[in-house]
Amino acid sequence: MGVEVVRQRRLARRAFIGPTGTLQEISIFSGHTAAMRPRILVVEDEENVAFVVRTALRLAGYATVETSTGRDALQVVCADDAFDLIVLDVMLPDLDGFEVCRRLRSDRSDIPVIFLTASDTVEDRVRGLSIGGDDYLTKPFSVEELVARVEAILRRSGKSTESRLLVCRDLILDDEAHQVSRGGKTVRLSLTEYKLLRFLMRNAGHVMTRAQILDHVWSYDFNGESTVVESYISLLRRKVDAEPPHLIHTVRGIGYRLNAR
Ligand code: CA
Repeated sequence: MGVEVVRQRRLARRAFIGPTGTLQEISIFSGHTAAMRPRILVVEDEENVAFVVRTALRLAGYATVETSTGRDALQVVCADDAFDLIVLDVMLPDLDGFEVCRRLRSDRSDIPVIFLTASDTVEDRVRGLSIGGDDYLTKPFSVEELVARVEAILRRSGKSTESRLLVCRDLILDDEAHQVSRGGKTVRLSLTEYKLLRFLMRNAGHVMTRAQILDHVWSYDFNGESTVVESYISLLRRKVDAEPPHLIHTVRGIGYRLNAR
């Protein structure tokens, strides 16, 4: 990812044009506690439905971000792809929910989608699921059912609030207790080291570029040199990866990969 792309993503992430045409802050980086919770994008143009969905999800322990149009939804996902799930209304004022989902999937986004719709026709149901939706709720729905379906999908995708344990061989990160151990021994990490390790473990088996690491681990306002990533990888290696088998691998010229097994 080029520096310019990263810069644009950071700018796009700070704010977006809302339905009223005004700039709205997105509370994506609302602090450490919020970062621990699964994040759900709610796309709904009816304020009363949006209120019910938002309240139910927050009470169930999820962090939510909202948009009321399809285009805003695509823009928000483009700026920040770290959502764990999208609750997507079908009847939106611009692009409909099916089209939003189709574009997300063609952009290779695999964020799970639950459609909300007033229509209960078989055709709509089949259409929603065939373009990559994961579930379908017909209005009016009970909030208990919504929360149960959200939880079921997150459990399937390994992002449930119940599964907060990341394991790579004998390296274990317990996100609930905020503890890390290697070979059964507790390791003390600084907050940044912890966030870096969690990011690598969540993406174990995949190469993470320096830009991706900077973007996810450091604040979007961070303007320092990317050598900070090297420095923290080296600190992390000393603390959790000093003995073989080594889990953190440098992919020359690109970034780092934490081996899944
Ligand atoms: Ca609607």
